[in-house]
Amino acid sequence: MLSTEFYFITFLLGAMVGSFLNVCIARIPKDESIVHPPSHCPNCRARIPFYYNIPLLSYVLLRGRCSSCKESISPRYFIVELLTALLAVTLYHWFGLSYTFFVTFVFAAALIVISFIDLDVRIVPDVISLPGIIVGLVLSVIGYFVFADPFEILPTPLSSLIGILVGGGFLLATAWAYEKFTGVDGMGGGDIKLLAMIGAFLGWPSVPVTLFVASILGSVIGIGLMVATGAGRRLALPFAPFLCSGALAYLFYGSQLIGFYLGD
Ligand SMILES: [Zn+2]
Repeated sequence: MLSTEFYFITFLLGAMVGSFLNVCIARIPKDESIVHPPSHCPNCRARIPFYYNIPLLSYVLLRGRCSSCKESISPRYFIVELLTALLAVTLYHWFGLSYTFFVTFVFAAALIVISFIDLDVRIVPDVISLPGIIVGLVLSVIGYFVFADPFEILPTPLSSLIGILVGGGFLLATAWAYEKFTGVDGMGGGDIKLLAMIGAFLGWPSVPVTLFVASILGSVIGIGLMVATGAGRRLALPFAPFLCSGALAYLFYGSQLIGFYLGD
């Protein structure tokens, strides 16, 4: 069933979705429409013809430059397309063509948009995370009543609901305590809504695992960057990419990570 052609098609479709995610990443922080106007160069605003708008390939053929003004285009465009394509193939490999694949791909696409917007402008966009909370809950209800999930990845509606409350509440409490004791506004409200969205899509056990993985990744990379750049403790990293990585780690290795978390 999982034939080579299907892997190839999934990769191409993933790259095309990635191309759309790039539009979202560039336009959502500016409050611009994601459907209009058509793709244009961010520098000279020249419209990008369809034959130069092929995912992955165009970037390589044009050597990362605009075909019109020759200004270099951020490698982010290529990275997002490749990452989305690779995630699509990985999810297809794990879940085949199933409801689980559909839900986890929608989820992964949202995580990519949120991560790259946070990296770019240090904002976790509410327009993704807030509807994401509702969508995650609704998809768990559909999964529970309509489609079976043989992979046991998708949560029951109850677990999804508790995930939203735990995800939101957990970080709210942490942020409150952090601010209380240090006087510094540590965790942003955007991160809290993101964790609630993760809880909605993956169920409540994903929340502590995501936080655990994100904290470890954040500490390791944060300390690494401080040592490398000589920046002090005030170095503030966007936290959403770590939370998203933690959520993906749970998605692929949840049961092993829970065992590790509980110390057995
Ligand atoms: Zn240009």
